[in-house]
Amino acid sequence: DNAQPKKPDWIRVKAPGGEGYLKTREIMREHRLSTVCEEAGCPNVGECWSQGHATMMIMGDICTRGCTFCNVATGRPEALDVFEPGRVADAVQKLGLNHVVITSVDRDDVDDGGAEHFAQTIRAVRHRSPDTTIEILTPDFLKCDPSVLETVVEAKPDVFNHNLETVPGLYPSVRPGARYFHSLRLLQRVKELDPSMFTKSGIMVGLGEDRQGVQQVMDDMRAADVDFLTIGQYLQPTSKHHRVDRFVTPEEFAAYEKTAYGKGFLMVSATPLTRSSYHAGDDFAQLRAA
Ligand code: SF4
Ligand code: SF4
Repeated sequence: DNAQPKKPDWIRVKAPGGEGYLKTREIMREHRLSTVCEEAGCPNVGECWSQGHATMMIMGDICTRGCTFCNVATGRPEALDVFEPGRVADAVQKLGLNHVVITSVDRDDVDDGGAEHFAQTIRAVRHRSPDTTIEILTPDFLKCDPSVLETVVEAKPDVFNHNLETVPGLYPSVRPGARYFHSLRLLQRVKELDPSMFTKSGIMVGLGEDRQGVQQVMDDMRAADVDFLTIGQYLQPTSKHHRVDRFVTPEEFAAYEKTAYGKGFLMVSATPLTRSSYHAGDDFAQLRAA
């Protein structure tokens, strides 16, 4: 049965437009940068882009994985573009960002999974915009030598984010090609390598998980010393993607948030429209000011 539950009215999306939105779009086009905002068809694009918040997606727009929730094309990517770190740095400067989120496709075709490319991008942004805080959202580097993680951590992003995406039991149908405990261990190793670095992870709900499963993921994350947590409603990008099992109510999200703070996360965002990068900058600035 592939019938989808009806979209509730709390999933309201404003059509994108306006001056700020168009300016962000122009800067992205001009620098030939992909954004996860567009690739994922993120419901917050109108709001985020009008404020100049965009999540840049480096290393191309073709992914070597095929997660069933994700709208990014799967296939054989092109070679890494050595000029891309410079273009990202330029765009960040033009957007005048206080905080930038940089993510990428998965590059199982590259020996180091793109770790050095990530590090170069971080260094280029840091060089041009020394006051901008940098958050990276990385792939899992599953097929790489474990040492590649050091390359990324040594570039000193302010926040290291890697999403667990869902409960372990749903990995085969949601995140085939990834391993729950590998991803968890990656987060833990980041903290071991640099205890001053903030780590962050997130999951989508409404994919078929139950509450107990979500609580277990929270516990696993805390055991791996993860600092920040995001939980958002999964939305199906096209009818070919994983089905929405249910729409989690705003009250349930609020309960997750409360539970998560109780478990010791420093920062939690759990709402239907929460995405990994949603309001990331505001939240981080607040935390640093506290
Ligand atoms: Fe982009 Fe993240 Fe905002 Fe969505 S929530 S539009 S992915 S910055
Ligand atoms: Fe999408 Fe990332 Fe999965 Fe690639 S690895 S299919 S970009 S979620």
